[in-house]
Amino acid sequence: SVRVRFCPSPTGNPHVGLVRTALFNWAFARHTGGTFVFRIEDTDAARDSEESYGQLLDSLRWLGFSWDEGPEIGGPHAPYRQSQRTETYREVAEKLKDAGHAYSCYCTASELEERRDAARAAGRPSGYDGKCREVTAEQKARYEAEGREPIVRFRMPDETITFTDLVRGELTFTPENVPDYGIVRANGAPLYTLVNPVDDALMEITHVLRGEDLLSSTPRQIALYKALIELGVAKEVPSFGHLPYVMGEGNKKLSKRDPESSLNLYRERGFLPEGLLNYLSLLGWSLSADQDIFTIEEMVAAFDIADVNPNPARFDLKKAEAINADHIRLLDVKDFTERCAPWLKAPFAPWAPEDFDAAKWEAVAPHAQTRLKVLSEITDNVDFLFLPEPVADEASWTKAMKEGSDALLRTAREKLEAADWTAAESLKEAVLAAGETHGLKLGKAQAPVRVAVTGRTVGLPLFESLEILGKEKTLARIDAALA
Ligand code: GLU
Repeated sequence: SVRVRFCPSPTGNPHVGLVRTALFNWAFARHTGGTFVFRIEDTDAARDSEESYGQLLDSLRWLGFSWDEGPEIGGPHAPYRQSQRTETYREVAEKLKDAGHAYSCYCTASELEERRDAARAAGRPSGYDGKCREVTAEQKARYEAEGREPIVRFRMPDETITFTDLVRGELTFTPENVPDYGIVRANGAPLYTLVNPVDDALMEITHVLRGEDLLSSTPRQIALYKALIELGVAKEVPSFGHLPYVMGEGNKKLSKRDPESSLNLYRERGFLPEGLLNYLSLLGWSLSADQDIFTIEEMVAAFDIADVNPNPARFDLKKAEAINADHIRLLDVKDFTERCAPWLKAPFAPWAPEDFDAAKWEAVAPHAQTRLKVLSEITDNVDFLFLPEPVADEASWTKAMKEGSDALLRTAREKLEAADWTAAESLKEAVLAAGETHGLKLGKAQAPVRVAVTGRTVGLPLFESLEILGKEKTLARIDAALA
């Protein structure tokens, strides 16, 4: 049965490319009834951090992914943090060396660099040249006497490697393009090149779905896998599928250093996990040509790696927001009001906590739900209800308060005073009538009223907003605007 893995390195903040990889693996596991393994690749002590590890766990939970094996829950192949598996890697590296699949390489960094430059200048392949493949006992003794500390290097077979990528079809790599590569550092620390395929082998991973940036490591890993099979460590080479690049602004590869690639940004702005996942699933996959909005269950039911598009996908924030807006509308109102909660208090809310009015919030929520693209927009949309005075937004004020606005506001105040405050429709009639008195259409007549009462030129439907704010406050704010 299918066993896939998500194996991030805990460096920096989780980013959208990482989430897309997690999503496709998870969806594939759930679609096939397989197993989703979560593994932490923390063998780079200089770059990995506990903080980043904590964020990864937290992010996966927030997104609603559950893993069948991994940190915190364990599993038959525990531990799932590579920093706790050093002994395993040491043993495998020894076996590889004993069988001649790997060797000690004594070349120093400066020697390697010198030979690389020379090869480049001569137009020859510039990867490792195999110098230490055969080192005699005397040479070895001399190197060691010189104090050189060897790395362990994997010996690539002199043969062409072909495999069928689940996304890209058949791919071929010739030996001159895949030189021998390091698998253990001089200080004994195992490298990603070793630990990743060793764990995939030991954890019996059947499908490796990962970003296209890792494609160049695949022929090396396949060769290593074959050696592991020979040694009885691995059973079968897994299938590989490389997910397309995600392009950002200006058609450049979205990098994890780009601020718009940070998952936390989307979370803080109030993307719903379901909206974000829906959008991220479209980066290389689609449910059908005419359906952009779907639930995660619909995705799982339909997901197949064979349908993943190898072409680069473009990250489009506007589209992501539009999709998120649709998911906000799909929530039931109660769920919506609950999810807005973080943005209705400190540090986001500018009003005093005691000025928050739950009844008003409940009344206004349905009007907000149909208008938000992201949940964080809720704060500005409802602050007029909870602040003692509307926000003083200079630009809105200048835009809406033109010559004649005072006269309009005076008439509107009069008509609003006499209106029926239990019906938004009656408040609309009042402003409409005020507009007529001054030769203004509803849109133009509304603007000064809106700014006087809410402080802004745009916002929730005005008459419902006035009704919820109440007669007394509305009139007082118009008075203040006229003063
Ligand atoms: N730890 C690797 C990374 O974060 C994962 C590579 C893989 O999926 O094979 O890039």
